[in-house]
Amino acid sequence: MVVQEGLSLERKLEILGDAAKYDVACTSSGVDRSGTGNSMGNTLKCGICHSFAADGRCISLLKILMTNECIFQCKYCINRAKNDVLRATFTPEEAAGLTMEFYRRNYIEGLFLSSGIYPTPDAAAERMLETVALLRFQYRFAGYIHVKAIPGADGQITEQIGWLADRMSVNLELPTAEGLRSLAPNKSRKTILTPMRQIQLGIKQNRQAAREALPSGMPGGRVLLPDRQEEFLPSSLECRPEQLGDLAEENSYTLGKPLLKGVTSGFVPAGQSTQMIIGATGETDYQIMSVTESLYQKFDLKRVFYSAFVNVNQDSDMPNWIGRTQLDREHRLYQADFLLRYYQFQIGELLSEDRPNFNMLLDPKCDYAVRHLELFPVEINRADYHTLLRVPGIGVKSAQRIVKARRMAVLDFPDLKKIGVVLKRAVYFITCQGKMMYPVKLSEDSITGYLIDERKQKELKGEQIGYQQLSLFDLPSMASGYQPPVAGGGGAQ
Ligand code: SF4
Repeated sequence: MVVQEGLSLERKLEILGDAAKYDVACTSSGVDRSGTGNSMGNTLKCGICHSFAADGRCISLLKILMTNECIFQCKYCINRAKNDVLRATFTPEEAAGLTMEFYRRNYIEGLFLSSGIYPTPDAAAERMLETVALLRFQYRFAGYIHVKAIPGADGQITEQIGWLADRMSVNLELPTAEGLRSLAPNKSRKTILTPMRQIQLGIKQNRQAAREALPSGMPGGRVLLPDRQEEFLPSSLECRPEQLGDLAEENSYTLGKPLLKGVTSGFVPAGQSTQMIIGATGETDYQIMSVTESLYQKFDLKRVFYSAFVNVNQDSDMPNWIGRTQLDREHRLYQADFLLRYYQFQIGELLSEDRPNFNMLLDPKCDYAVRHLELFPVEINRADYHTLLRVPGIGVKSAQRIVKARRMAVLDFPDLKKIGVVLKRAVYFITCQGKMMYPVKLSEDSITGYLIDERKQKELKGEQIGYQQLSLFDLPSMASGYQPPVAGGGGAQ
């Protein structure tokens, strides 16, 4: 461990901003665009990244570690104790002052604060608490603050951070307990799931208390609004507590009061999130998404983030992925995650023990549709909202618009286009007034062929993929001059 004394604040920022870049709880992780001399801004060294507020706004965050010193030996981490990297530590005054200086210059709207574990979990968490308290009370900073909880730290400290932060997260790191044991020997499922459960129950109890404090009939404020997630998730999701062990059932935490005077916001009002590393251990997509499903159901998480494994330590016993394999996989996991949160899918509908990984050629919703052709085509003027959500090319908004619009008139294909339906995908799975837009052969092979984009079609030529070669006669309505549509890049719609 190389600890250098007397580092300037700028040098510390460079080291600790760079050390935080592997955390993907902010969506712009990994961006490394440098300034060109005739442009403004530089994402390389200052540690600024972007995240999305609950109302969909993109906000800039200062993303830093309090320290990159660490006593733990997580194999996937550049900051692990045995690595010979330059170490630095912010004092709480430095981290809070820096946040305010950036904020005053309008560079950022909030802070994303994480930390290595040094010298103990409690000491690391206390330093973070002190920073956030300085920001909230000394500087009266009311902007967004996201804090990573420290596994193994005293629950009291975590709770006090929760009273001051907007969002908290505890990284699950690896999808299975065995994976965690082999790659992060100093962490355990217990030290990770305990604070996660504590934060979940704290949020719940705080919301309940705020609800009870209001006179009946009075509309709720920020903490009382129902979760957007709850609006969309069906109540009957099948639970898989076994994915997270007995801890998923623990229910014994009581939220205390804020110890610091002047706390005005709720407990972790923006909810909690987590992150899993993908591809460091051998879990299938089915295992990963089953854990995700359990986390949403059992821990009320706002988001699960997936991070494709990069062998930053060049360890010979760790996988060295070449090319985009794990990034493509990460993309599929995010698409499936979206289907779970907003489209009322269950993971058992998308994957199974026998078919444990996502199709790299089709997004999960198209893949589901071509494997369940017995459910299609659906009649746009009659299908219920839940069925419409399962049609590729129909998103949440367009399904809602269809249900509303068809109360006034019978819908046809041009209406669907105006509503926002992506017809180039939907056309194989819907009818309007009993008719398809074009005659389509309802077979898995032919529809798959139409849905796979041109680039992937080319890639396929040299590969064995199990789909039959399309014949000219499979193309719909060649006589009418119709060209089969090419699917886009694979959004969740
Ligand atoms: S606890 Fe593990 S992941 Fe976190 S900084 Fe230390 S070595 Fe890295």
